[in-house]
Amino acid sequence: MRPVEAAGGGNGITLRTFGRSHRGLKRPNNEDAYLMRPVAGEGFLVAVADGVGGGPAGQEASRMALETLDDAVGIEIKDIARLASAVSLANRRIYESGQRDDALNGMGTTLTSAVVFPGRLMVAHVGDSRAYQLLDDHLVRLTIDHSLAAEMERAGGLTPEEAQHHPNRNVLTRVIGPFDRVRIDVTEISWGSGDRLLLCTDGLTAVLSDDDILDCSRRLSGYALIDALIELALNRGGPDNITVVLAEPDESEGDSHGR
Ligand code: MG
Repeated sequence: MRPVEAAGGGNGITLRTFGRSHRGLKRPNNEDAYLMRPVAGEGFLVAVADGVGGGPAGQEASRMALETLDDAVGIEIKDIARLASAVSLANRRIYESGQRDDALNGMGTTLTSAVVFPGRLMVAHVGDSRAYQLLDDHLVRLTIDHSLAAEMERAGGLTPEEAQHHPNRNVLTRVIGPFDRVRIDVTEISWGSGDRLLLCTDGLTAVLSDDDILDCSRRLSGYALIDALIELALNRGGPDNITVVLAEPDESEGDSHGR
């Protein structure tokens, strides 16, 4: 797939996006999905979704979430309320489909979505997929995991290391779809000209630490970075579907940051 480039370039910064999803080594299907496409103002809408529900339901839930988000956000997005309401609509559509069809009843998905502009970032998030801000010498987690193990870690009952390997790390405390309403975490921050945004599903972070991600991100960019992360996850057993989306400044034009 070719990187998608936003039209224009008003303040000299152009973003590019890259995404891949891998089934992993243990799962029969890939229930993850991702979305990346331009929005007006030299920005991009990007998202990852990790379906849960078994059989066809997980795949259907992640697909529906991204389709709804894509439709509901539109091309002109000015405020985060629009992004949050699109996520809310995705929840309702998946919930209603689950109510109509026994085979899909109870289906759900994580949904980590963002609209990134050269100077601004909006995130709306439910579940245990993640958004990271990649900076030159450190990274910032922009989302918290809505999983039982992560809740226990935040309450002080587990260390981060214990939480990563805890048997309840896959038990989600918030998810899109199974209930008629869902609480959505929203964040809006200013975005530096060299900042990079990484979204990923738990198939990556179950086997890679933040330091692993930082180490790769300092050396690599674009598809080379995504492929290195997925390769490392596969080398560590690749037990789950792995999805990674990256939005970064296009350094082929404008100033370089040494990558
Ligand atoms: Mg997963």
